[in-house]
Parts: sequence; C-alpha cells; structure tokens
Amino acid sequence: MSAPAIAAALRARHRFILTSHARPDGDAIGSEVALAFALRALGKDVRLVNRDPAPLPYRGFPGVDTIEIAPRVDGPADAVVTLECSDLSRPGLAGLDAYFVINIDHHLGNEMYGGENWFDPDAAACAEMVADVIDTLGVAWTTEIATHLYLGIATDTGSFRHGPITARTFEACRRIALAGVQPAALARQIFDSFGIGHVKLQGAILSRMTLRHGGRLAVLAFDDALLAECEATVDDTEGLVNVPLGAREVSAVVLLKRQLDGSTRVSLRSKNHIDVRRVAGRWGGGGHRNAAGCTLTGDVPAQEQALLDAVAGAIGV
Ligand code: 5GP
Ligand code: MN
Repeated sequence: MSAPAIAAALRARHRFILTSHARPDGDAIGSEVALAFALRALGKDVRLVNRDPAPLPYRGFPGVDTIEIAPRVDGPADAVVTLECSDLSRPGLAGLDAYFVINIDHHLGNEMYGGENWFDPDAAACAEMVADVIDTLGVAWTTEIATHLYLGIATDTGSFRHGPITARTFEACRRIALAGVQPAALARQIFDSFGIGHVKLQGAILSRMTLRHGGRLAVLAFDDALLAECEATVDDTEGLVNVPLGAREVSAVVLLKRQLDGSTRVSLRSKNHIDVRRVAGRWGGGGHRNAAGCTLTGDVPAQEQALLDAVAGAIGV
C-alpha cells in the first residue's frame, strides 16, 4: 500500500470518521486535522472523533474545535480513518470494529488491522504520510493544512532531533513555509504556549529526578498530588520526558506517571541506537526506537523495577 492506494480508497467514499490515538499528541492532531481539511476541500463529509481532548497549546489551531470528544464512535460512515495507530485499541474508542477501516501509520509493529493499510516506518511523522496523501488527492496545501502538517512534523521529530528525518521531511517543511505558515511563530505556539503550571511542574519533577548507572539513565516520576501542588494538568507534562536528554551522559529517560487507579503510565526516550520500543513492547506498549510508551498494571512497584532493569539492559549497563 502507498499514498495512491489510500487516495483511491478515500476518493471512492464519501462519509468519513477520522480518529487518532488516546491522549493525542501533536502528530495525532496534526495528521487527522490536515487530512480532514483536505477531504472537506473535496466536498467529503468528515467527522473527527477522539477519546481525549487536544493538548492545550493546539486547541486554538484551525479545525481543532471540530473534534468530537467521545468514548465511542457511532453513526453512518463509509470508512473510519485511523492516523498514528499501530493497533485498533490505540484510539481507545468502542465501536470501531463496525466500520471499514483505513489505517495510515508510521509506527514499527503496525498490525495492519484495516481494510486498507499504509504503514511507512520511514516517515518521521504520520503527517509526512498525510502530506503525500493530500498531494495524491490533488488538494492544494492551504495555510490550515500546512499548519497541521508542521504541528505533526515538528512535534514527532522533537524539533528535528530524532526519528527518520530525511530530505522528505525538509521538502514538506519547505512547502509548508511556501503555504504561508510562519515557522518560528508557529513553533512558539506549539512549544511555548502552556500555562505557568507547566513550568512549575518541570521544576518540581526535575528536582526529584534520580540518576542511575553513572547518569546514563534518568528517572522522573509524578502523581496527581504533585500536579495539584503545581496547579498543573497532565497536559503540562508534555515534552518533560525529553529534558534530561539535554545532558550528554544521559542515554535514556523513564517518566513514570502514577495514576489514581494504581497503574503507572510510562514514557520512554532514548538516544541513537538504544531501542526503547522493544522494552515498551514487553509491557504491551509500543512506539518508536527512541520514543515509546506502555502501561504497568498488577504489582506495579515490581513492574517499575523490572522496567528500569530492562531499560538499563537496552542501554547496555
Ligand atoms: P509518549 O511517551 O509521548 O506518550 O509516547 C511516545 C511514543 O510511543 C508515541 O509514538 C506513542 O504513540 C507511543 N506509545 C505511547 N504509549 C503507547 C502504548 O501504550 N502503546 C503503543 N502501541 N504505543 C504507545
Ligand atoms: Mn507520529
């Protein structure tokens, strides 16, 4: 499968529901909203349905206010398009099995669960794939479309730091700039538009950071009590997991989000060849080599320790 096959599947249908993964990130929002603008430009009927709201900095972006937040999908549609979802449980929505699914994703390990699937692990962001689909559909890049493509690319590459960043990435960015987007101003909106709770929370979490294995592994943790203390929300943790990577000696970071139900959500980051996706996969999660996540349940303290050992193993310490 490739962009032409996906474009043909989209052209042949009229009513769409677009979705992405639960707790959407910039690439989830950017990919689905960019594609929604393109399909609407072709006169298609498009609904956007996500389980969770967009992170605060992106809520004012064009079209984001049209995303319905719901625990399930229903109503007529010729297809559901999933963006950024390696399996059909990632959206966290009930009712998806009732639809014809078009799967567009760049996560290694994609389960090819759709009636049409395009999986491209060489894309730095799902938004790069959406850019190709939009071109194949023959829709011009409006400022709205370009804004969302940039949102996906800039966030998923960690501001052009990781993932399969190639000439294709910068070719998309060149055309984004030509479409009337001001990249610097947009980057400020994406990365520097949180509430002050975001900054306070960064300080609180970083001051509690522990370093292991001579500083090669950094461990961060927070719970709801710390969020409340900093007048922050879970949105305000965005980007935090990347901060310890700024130290030369830090090779991997584990961020533990201890949840009220006793489980722990885990975000993993690493540099270069260190593969944290494989570690996340052992706990039923996934992602990319340098950015992955999973959820720990059951005997959570023991699982946390086992996970830290597994990351240390991936680092080779
Ligand atoms: P984050 O740490 O930013 O939540 O996620 C990093 C990467 O891992 C993203 O590409 C995200 O889609 C993926 N990811 C995070 N949690 C999970 C999970 O529970 N399952 C799967 N399959 N992927 C995940
Ligand atoms: Mn992505």
